[in-house]
Amino acid sequence: MSLSDKAPSISFEFFPPKSEKAAAALLDTTAALAELSPKYMTVTYGAGGSTQDGTVDTLKRMMEHDIPLAAHLTFINSRKEELKAYTDGLWDMGVRHIIALRGDMPSDGDVNWPLETDDDYFQYTSDFVEGLKSWNDFEISVGCYPEKHPDAPSMDADLKALKLKCDAGADRAITQFFFDNDVFYRFVDECAAAGINTPLCPGLLPIHDFKSMCKFAKRCQAQVPDWLHERFGAVENAEEAEKIATDLLVMQAQDLAKNGVEHMHFYTLNKSAITAEACEALGYKAKAA
Ligand code: FAD
Repeated sequence: MSLSDKAPSISFEFFPPKSEKAAAALLDTTAALAELSPKYMTVTYGAGGSTQDGTVDTLKRMMEHDIPLAAHLTFINSRKEELKAYTDGLWDMGVRHIIALRGDMPSDGDVNWPLETDDDYFQYTSDFVEGLKSWNDFEISVGCYPEKHPDAPSMDADLKALKLKCDAGADRAITQFFFDNDVFYRFVDECAAAGINTPLCPGLLPIHDFKSMCKFAKRCQAQVPDWLHERFGAVENAEEAEKIATDLLVMQAQDLAKNGVEHMHFYTLNKSAITAEACEALGYKAKAA
């Protein structure tokens, strides 16, 4: 790999596949992206543990690439003892990095949280980070929200919550995706003013399907700027859409690198092409065979 000294490090996120066919395709994707020597690769966790086995199976399969792996984990609706047993299992497998999250509140309201008086459950992500650190010497990443988490009453309240997670021992905070880099630069300043010194890593989303991305962004309350609607509004075919998505991600990553960002996390959606092009534009090249 030839990489300029100043290129940011990179990481890739994948979700557990839903079929054997998708699992085989995912292994091709992870193999292709592992060639770029990311700092780590992560596997998501389904709400309430719905993909617990899938997360572990996917991590096991990805171990063949010899890249450090991180397991996402949500605490909502899981007892502390269950979480401890699960994370002990991850530790025994060789996983040393957890992406520690609350998880979304179930829409049907069926949730064992928050239970102010119930000591069997974690209350906040900051408590979860503390718990994880006390059980095993995990590296911990947490999530953060440059445009505010949808549940937070204000940006100020959300920054206070982020500071608590950082003070509890998080090694970095990975952002929700955004498309306007000024949103990220503003967030960096807001975090600094709030006394948050933990590294902030932008999470970048390649646009594989503009319409479904817009639906997802609405749920996350992440802004899709007008110029993005205009760019995709005139698209005539899938090839054109992929070309636009690639150019956008390349430009976004290059601008972040130019502004001193030291690490970027890519939400790959289990596909390699657009993400790989953005990383190549940062100076990454696949290892020679
Ligand atoms: P939290 O930091 O827990 O915040 C959630 C809300 O609680 C906010 O409104 C916050 O302000 C508030 N809050 C937090 N702490 C306090 C406190 N001490 N006092 C008062 N208010 C507080 N979801 C999955 O199900 N699986 C995944 O694999 C997954 N991966 C993700 C990866 C990344 C990088 C990101 C950014 C998100 C991911 N999510 C995942 C989504 C995440 O679970 C949801 O956004 C969830 O609603 C919030 O989890 P959190 O830990 O980021 O938020």
